Amino acid sequence: GDIYGASRRNPPGRDYSIAAARAVADRERLLMAKEHLLSGPIIGGTLLQAGDGEAVTSPTDGRRIGTVWPAAADMADRAIAAARAAQPKWDRAGGPARAATLRAMADALEAETDSLVALLSLEAGKTLNDGVAEVREAVDFCRYYADLAERQFAGLAPLPGPVGETNSMELRGRGVFLCISPWNFPLAIFTGQIAAALAAGNAVIAKPAEQTPLVAGAAVRLFHRAGLSPDLLALLPGEGGVIGPVLTAHPGVDGVAFTGGTDTAASINRALAARPGPIIPFIAETGGLNGMFVDTTALREQVVDDVILSAFGSAGQRCSALRLLFVPEESADHLIETLKGALDALVIGDPADPASDVGPVIDEEARAALIAHRDRLSREAAILHEKAMENAPAGGSFFAPLIAEIPTPDFLEREVFGPILHIHRYRRADLPAVARALAARGYGLTLGIHSRVEGFAREVRDLVPAGNCYVNRSIIGAVVGVQPFGGEGLSGTGPKAGGPHALMRYAVERALSVNI
Ligand code: GLU
Repeated sequence: GDIYGASRRNPPGRDYSIAAARAVADRERLLMAKEHLLSGPIIGGTLLQAGDGEAVTSPTDGRRIGTVWPAAADMADRAIAAARAAQPKWDRAGGPARAATLRAMADALEAETDSLVALLSLEAGKTLNDGVAEVREAVDFCRYYADLAERQFAGLAPLPGPVGETNSMELRGRGVFLCISPWNFPLAIFTGQIAAALAAGNAVIAKPAEQTPLVAGAAVRLFHRAGLSPDLLALLPGEGGVIGPVLTAHPGVDGVAFTGGTDTAASINRALAARPGPIIPFIAETGGLNGMFVDTTALREQVVDDVILSAFGSAGQRCSALRLLFVPEESADHLIETLKGALDALVIGDPADPASDVGPVIDEEARAALIAHRDRLSREAAILHEKAMENAPAGGSFFAPLIAEIPTPDFLEREVFGPILHIHRYRRADLPAVARALAARGYGLTLGIHSRVEGFAREVRDLVPAGNCYVNRSIIGAVVGVQPFGGEGLSGTGPKAGGPHALMRYAVERALSVNI
């Protein structure tokens, strides 16, 4: 049977080489640019605005695009109390009823695709193609988790037992889930976490990244418009360091889903461990130190295409992005020359321009960290090539993508989040040592292999643990239900987003034995 939802279809995309699609994108961009956008705490379906709020600016040109009112600590009590009161009815309604609401949300997102793409570009600096992919992923999450809810939360499922005894078990919601999401997928991951928690029968308190409150506000309004009872989903935006600890310490929170940095995950884990009362589940999806191993049998053009997309797509701001490229000494020079040419062909510019391949990084802080890393590379490694930035608008946080060669395979201790590709040449005899040096860092998110030799691919896979391994293709852009996404070790706790077991840790299992 279709147990993993193979018959589900992805929503339509957009082709910006067609003038009509560009015209729609342009119209939405202009409409969005005229508005002063608002976000803040949304409790019981109402946006709370007290005082002046704070400016939200665009990473593309630094322009103020809206206002956000950060959530105050006492709002957590109100939002959580309302969520607790609403959750039992939602849980009792069962998976099939909840699936209907999630599908309505999917339809609402799909209908709003063009305006959401414009907003993603304005607030998060996403290119149009990245924006469309992100909306489609959000839609996929809603439909996929709706399918899982329908199958896995449909009530008591029979179990075997002795004569006269009826045994069964069911999955039920845990209560109130806290969902903490990142700025790099402010719509897809935000929506995916919420959809998973809701599908499993929970109410949700959503804490979006401080850089992207506007997209989060738009998504919450869509959930409510799609028919979700307002008390089942509250939005509490704010600085992670301020509102985060209030929420993770709150006794009314029954589980936490988090996507973001490895260090933040560790500190949330410590906060949860220090809470009195029950031990609650913590689902974390964190960073990666992602490598790709190329051998001499790989097809060069394909390698170049996949490396450029994996390292520089989304300005390298994906946790799945390629950081370390291992190339065999024999073909390194040739490959590096081709990569330089391909890097030069990328267009860096206003992400709302359909011609742009790479937009800004998220903010000045991110850019400063990349500049500091570039300084280290010029001192301790060799910068091979840096892309010139003719088209970048003034006032934006643009960073010129670059390729550097590193002297040792363990040069990077941690993830550098942006468009920087590190290359290391290896000798075939050193492959095991090189691969072990990468694995020793303890991450385990994505892994790329480019080879026509099955044995090479197997050897690399055995040496480098990774939640998502890709052979002869790019290592970004996991599709819901197709490449269930998530890592091991320092990269995450599982279960995988968009995978068949995703809802399990959002749920409790209850067994029932009845003797008659
Ligand atoms: N799922 C995304 C991908 O496969 C990455 C998610 C992330 O960056 O957190 O590219």
